[in-house]
Amino acid sequence: MSAIRFPSRAVQRPRRSVISDRVNSIPASGIRRFFDLLATIDGVISLGVGEPDFVTPWHIRESAIYSVERGQTMYTSNYGLIELRIELAKHLARLYGVEYDPRTELVITAGVSEALDIAIRAIVNPGDEIIIPDPTYVSYGPCVVMAGGVVVPVPTFVENDFKVSAEEIEKRINNRTKAILIGYPNNPTGAVMAREDLKGIADVAARHDLIVISDEIYDRLVYDTEHTCFASLPGMKERTILLGGFSKSYAMTGWRVGYAAAPAEILEAMLKIHQYVLMCASTSGQKAATEALRNGEESVQRMVREYNQRRRVMHRGLIDIGLSCFEPKGAFYAFPNIEVTGLSSDEFAERLLMEEKVAVVPGTAFGQRGSGHVRCCYATSMKNINEALVRMKRFVDRYVRR
Ligand code: PLP
Repeated sequence: MSAIRFPSRAVQRPRRSVISDRVNSIPASGIRRFFDLLATIDGVISLGVGEPDFVTPWHIRESAIYSVERGQTMYTSNYGLIELRIELAKHLARLYGVEYDPRTELVITAGVSEALDIAIRAIVNPGDEIIIPDPTYVSYGPCVVMAGGVVVPVPTFVENDFKVSAEEIEKRINNRTKAILIGYPNNPTGAVMAREDLKGIADVAARHDLIVISDEIYDRLVYDTEHTCFASLPGMKERTILLGGFSKSYAMTGWRVGYAAAPAEILEAMLKIHQYVLMCASTSGQKAATEALRNGEESVQRMVREYNQRRRVMHRGLIDIGLSCFEPKGAFYAFPNIEVTGLSSDEFAERLLMEEKVAVVPGTAFGQRGSGHVRCCYATSMKNINEALVRMKRFVDRYVRR
């Protein structure tokens, strides 16, 4: 009997990519590519990066410095500091009337970025579909894909103030649909969904027994309107994973602190991932966040007043330049339509940067429906906004006349 002959390993295994198919399938962030380019040019006014230009208020920084001086440099509980979770539970109850148990329904994360990832990974099985408005924040789709899920975009339109329609969501639901992922106030459009609008989505979620992941990182940054917390709608706390953070409202992007609030069963699943990949958010960051919740309200109000003024100048300025632009109601972005220039959003952003040294983000970075638009962040000084508008006017005039 002849021996069974195995081919050598080299022959048996076709050469494969070192990188996983999932990671290969997602493009690098359009925003990052742009900022790599920007870093090589001097004198640029950036309306690009979505980050407050304010430094974290002093009392918040000081509380973290003090905690380090006292040697509070160890890991915290996986859930996060209990004093922070208690403050957070009080904060959410005070603002939105929604009650969370700080021991079992809240976890402190490394920003909303991590909260988003563990929320999606905790609920998605391979092939599960997640419905997401388009355009939308750049991380949502890739996080779903990396968890093995499938993104189902729902177009939103300026005619409807970039709100996502419950009817359009419902049309896309099938037996593979697991969740709806929304983010209002919205990045990149500045859209806000009123309580009545959100109720429609709540009805759809209840009817089809879906989870709603609601990224409310910009909850405090609303202008002439109110924010509705999705979990505060009747019957929704049980099916909502609420994500929130400190980066935007308290100008704390670099501290990497955020949170997720969810029913205990879901939160427990999220915590499993969090404890293996992160252990806990940074201890001094959590100290700073505790101080932010205890004494940061005045700073939030001050920054919101300032953003509101900048918002008006930016919106008016874009219209005066000849670009039609939805009036943003929240976050710190304007999302003008640039089609009059005859340029695509990528061309517009690239040429504006090269010719006038103003950085904006092409709308396509946020999904197909972002095409024909660019995102202008107004979390920069009034001086920068005014100068950027002068340069943009020159640029637009040149292309519109051609
Ligand atoms: N969600 C949205 C809609 C954002 O715009 C951002 C940051 O730009 C994040 C989440 C991430 O925030 P964090 O700094 O808390 O990770």
